[in-house]
Amino acid sequence: MTVSIELVPGRCEGHAVCEAIAPEVFQVDDDGIVQLVPGGDHGAETALAAVRSCPVAALRATP
Ligand code: SF4
Repeated sequence: MTVSIELVPGRCEGHAVCEAIAPEVFQVDDDGIVQLVPGGDHGAETALAAVRSCPVAALRATP
């Protein structure tokens, strides 16, 4: 299954929960906004767990 992870514009508050769970997919930049790491595996269980763990629902995974 191919999964695509998107950022919901303007919602990330830089809590870095996602980065703590799946640093291979998410990195918080110097401005405190998460960026997707190019080439990261969006379908990895850790990546999907990170999507579910964002406290402000700033991440969306679509199959
Ligand atoms: S996407 Fe959510 S968990 Fe990740 S840095 Fe932004 S607010 Fe934090």
